Amino acid sequence: MALIVKKFGGTSVADKERIFNVARIIVDDYKMGNDIITVVSAQGDTTDDLIMKAKEINDGDISKREMDMLLTAGEQISISLLAMAIEKLGCPVISLLGWQAGFTTDSNHGIARIKNINTERIKSELAKKNIIIVAGFQGINKYDDLTTLGRGGSDTSAVAIAAAFHAKRCQIYTDVDGVYTADPRKVRGAQKLSEITYDEMLELATLGAQVLNNRSVEMAKKYNVELEVLSSLEKKVGTIVRENVKMEKMLIRGVTSDKDVATISVVGLKDSPGIAFKMFNKLAQFKINVDMILQSVGRNGTKDITFTVSRSQADIAIESIESLKSVFNYSEISKDVSVTKLSIVGAGMESHPGVAAKMFEALYDSNINIRMISTSEIKISVLIDEKQTEKAVQAVHDAFLA
Ligand code: ASP
Ligand code: MG
Repeated sequence: MALIVKKFGGTSVADKERIFNVARIIVDDYKMGNDIITVVSAQGDTTDDLIMKAKEINDGDISKREMDMLLTAGEQISISLLAMAIEKLGCPVISLLGWQAGFTTDSNHGIARIKNINTERIKSELAKKNIIIVAGFQGINKYDDLTTLGRGGSDTSAVAIAAAFHAKRCQIYTDVDGVYTADPRKVRGAQKLSEITYDEMLELATLGAQVLNNRSVEMAKKYNVELEVLSSLEKKVGTIVRENVKMEKMLIRGVTSDKDVATISVVGLKDSPGIAFKMFNKLAQFKINVDMILQSVGRNGTKDITFTVSRSQADIAIESIESLKSVFNYSEISKDVSVTKLSIVGAGMESHPGVAAKMFEALYDSNINIRMISTSEIKISVLIDEKQTEKAVQAVHDAFLA
């Protein structure tokens, strides 16, 4: 007998059939003698629909408190329906809203952080042999107002429960059956990973592989909760996310691409100390997130600086630099939104030389030009022409993972 924490995403409880499917998964584990705590998201597109309804009423500034009051309703629907389905299958069950399950958060409505979980209520329900269904994504602040944890926050609710109850593992059920080495719909030979480290998962998540919410992975790492990503629709083993994994023969764990990138090039800057500082300081004042940076030597004692930002921030990045035109004294500033950032991620590269060379060779063999490069301990990213994205991902994937 064990305590099992499960989380089901919105697509897994989207309609009656799916709700009963989830109910059966829970009941099967319950009947084996396990204690079960299940966290659930709102059904299907409910959260998006609620946001739209709010905007119909007021397309200006909606109070964040009222928005949270509205959005928490989505999960209230899914937990009660799931509890009814379990009841119908003949097992004792109770649904609990975030505050009933003991979730207290700070007061940052819309993006609240969990401060504490009071486990008493859940413990007493478990003692009565009830299956527990908890509304994800929500809590209560010190003023007794409802809060939400940010989009995709149910993953975090589940991990927090697993940590609070010292569960060994948190099962995250979703509509894909695990984490892959690349997007299986686009890359030939993409394989499901049996295991991946928290750090690798975080890199892959920020690079656009949207299986797990980032905050939940950070929390899982902090409290050493193992995550298992698996399908709610097919009975298959999923992917385990944990601190230490067998390295097998895998040099890298995955290849991803991100098209939400723009380069800004500032040409002909005066080559004097403090220019880079002033430029990036200005960008920071405008709250612009800079990713890759390249500085190169220009003609006649000038220099050029090129950097990348997300596409939605490209124009404002240019504006912010133009606002200091007299200081920077550049000859030209331009943007390019037809680029992609291609990245490989893998803890294995820390201890194996030649990973970068192998990646660059694969791109060279496919005639793909690299415009910028950046690296971290477990990641190498290159900037390439957007039109070559698919070809590049496939070539790099073939080189490492075929
Ligand atoms: N229902 C919320 C959302 O759609 C929370 C979640 O799905 O995890 O963002
Ligand atoms: Mg959702």
